[in-house]
Amino acid sequence: MMSGRETVNAFAGNPIVGGKREAEEVEEVLRSPEAASKVKVLPMCDGKPLVEAQSQGLVPWRLAWQELDDIQYYGSAEERNIQLVYVGDGDGFSYFAIAVPAKDFGDRQELKSLADGFGKEGLTFYDLRSLMQAADFGNHDIMGELSIAGHARAMMEWHKQAKYCGRCGTSTRPILCGQRRQCTNAKCNNKLYPRIDPVVIMLVIDKERDCAILGRQSRFIPRMWSCIAGFIEPGESLEEAVRRETREEVGLEVGEIVYHSSQPWPVGPSSMSCQLMVGFFAYAKSFDIRVDKKELEDAQWHRREDIRRILQNTRYKSDQQEAIQKIQKAASGNGEAQVQGRTSSDSKKESTTGTSTLGFVPGPYAIAHHLISTWANEGPVMTQSNY
Ligand SMILES: [Zn+2]
Repeated sequence: MMSGRETVNAFAGNPIVGGKREAEEVEEVLRSPEAASKVKVLPMCDGKPLVEAQSQGLVPWRLAWQELDDIQYYGSAEERNIQLVYVGDGDGFSYFAIAVPAKDFGDRQELKSLADGFGKEGLTFYDLRSLMQAADFGNHDIMGELSIAGHARAMMEWHKQAKYCGRCGTSTRPILCGQRRQCTNAKCNNKLYPRIDPVVIMLVIDKERDCAILGRQSRFIPRMWSCIAGFIEPGESLEEAVRRETREEVGLEVGEIVYHSSQPWPVGPSSMSCQLMVGFFAYAKSFDIRVDKKELEDAQWHRREDIRRILQNTRYKSDQQEAIQKIQKAASGNGEAQVQGRTSSDSKKESTTGTSTLGFVPGPYAIAHHLISTWANEGPVMTQSNY
């Protein structure tokens, strides 16, 4: 039912999750005498994967997989193995992530010295959002690395948030190579499953006038516009969520709804280990927008040619260069490693580009970008395109 070619969104297309094996089988690999030669481990600290910065070529960073025997801060091999979280299989290896215990979470110096502890230069723990920004969407290799990192982070964050049983309040422990957790109260034995929070995201389109709605949330960086989106409520279908959110946020009734693609999103709010963005085109039955100011700062109809022009404002490319430099600096142990948010020099740079009044949309690592660009670059008729 999709109109164009399939979009493989960032964080999807994981090259090792496809080779996943049964947890019991993986447990056997860990217990076997050849474990050391069959297992690779990705250390993560405070949700940040260990990466090796690359100064040459098209791939700015790579995941710094370690040998099983190099993971030594858990005491016995048995204690360590309980903390390993299985993330997939490929090239004859079983891949795991493990949380590196840290004293001061988020402390840049500690992150660097923990990374240096792996005995190789150019290593650093770095936040996934910056790794995402540094990745070139057109490069298959780096997008594969990013999706593995996203899956690993989602699992590690879920483990952090699922430490206690929601039924009886007792602590839980990881089982089946970190694929589940289980309550330690023998009378309860409640099993916990990794959490996913689904979100509908839609480009609302007026077919006759050939225009679409872009909205702004107040938390967005200045001049960024995107699709409207919202969480699915219990007892609601995807289609109902699209209709309700569109009605609530911009006061419009929606008729036809067309699925586009979906995207795992492990870089959302910290309380949610992994959102699943489900993207749609939603065809409006009415035209007068009534913005709910509690939900959105603003929302406006834009003509297709205007959206094409907005898409030419590729702000994400300068963000990409900036993210690459920050990762390289952090990996070399040189200067300001983790810079959160944007600096005043960014806005200065923008105001001199001459495109500042136009606004921009999220970069191609976000499904919103593909919803917007798919519609903008297609002809006015959405159906039976075969490109
Ligand atoms: Zn319990």
